[in-house]
Amino acid sequence: MALKIWLDGKLVDEADAKVSVFDHGLLYGDGVFEGIRVYDGRVFELEAHLRRLYQSAKVIRLEVAMDKDQLVSAIKQTVEANGIVNGYIRLVVTRGAGTLGLNPFICKNSCLIIIADKIQLYPEELYETGMRIVSATTVRNHPLAIPPQVKSLNYLNNIIAKIEALDNNVPEAIMYNHEGYVAEATGDNVFIVRDGVIYTPPVEAGALEGITRNIVIRLAREQNLEVVEKNLTRCDLYICDEFFLTGTAAEVIGIVEIDGRTVGDGRPGPITKRLREKFFEYAHGDRR
Ligand code: PMP
Repeated sequence: MALKIWLDGKLVDEADAKVSVFDHGLLYGDGVFEGIRVYDGRVFELEAHLRRLYQSAKVIRLEVAMDKDQLVSAIKQTVEANGIVNGYIRLVVTRGAGTLGLNPFICKNSCLIIIADKIQLYPEELYETGMRIVSATTVRNHPLAIPPQVKSLNYLNNIIAKIEALDNNVPEAIMYNHEGYVAEATGDNVFIVRDGVIYTPPVEAGALEGITRNIVIRLAREQNLEVVEKNLTRCDLYICDEFFLTGTAAEVIGIVEIDGRTVGDGRPGPITKRLREKFFEYAHGDRR
């Protein structure tokens, strides 16, 4: 069924949802976005996603055409118009149409797009068996370049790393920062477990501050598990007991092999499974 897309203030048919070839989102990846889940008809962690969107926009000096309340209403209308009960929302703000020059201030009106659709997830069995991944040679953006905390439309850095993963017949790759510490995966945050303690790289290591990451840290602490934000090396990943990734689409997924080294006993570990269950309960429960 054709979708209804929110484009610049109204819902339009998918076939009519078109943007200018002069939009700097297209010409330069100039813009920001969010990926948000809908669980049981409720938009998941909308406040946190909107906060991150407006913060990303602020860093790149992009004016979002709507305030928060208007945006919440537009998102809800789009979800309803498409009958999405369990699905995924893609919220995109581009710089808008300008000229062929880089100057963003020539683009008079930023462009706001909301797509609400079903979601293509990793196969369920991958959560049971765990995922194999590799280290990417592509270094995560330097913090003095476009900061990794900004969820910008320019994902080329991550895409190049993703190609490295796919060339190795695995779905994900770990990206390291310019100092060699673990930053994140191409579209997910990184966690390991060693001797019962959970470790994750600090955001300053070059990660997007994942909404799922923050929830998982909170849920783990509620379970009286110790969570430490600390720089991690490639070696830390090779010798950990458990390894998992978190993200809006992936939720919590166990890693069982990295660069040919088996993690733990080669299956998702007990803490990974527990946090996956806790996350599921949280996403589908009444606490949101
Ligand atoms: N890192 C990157 C680079 C991402 O694109 C994402 C989102 N897919 C994440 C981490 C996870 O963030 P979130 O939990 O907010 O989806």
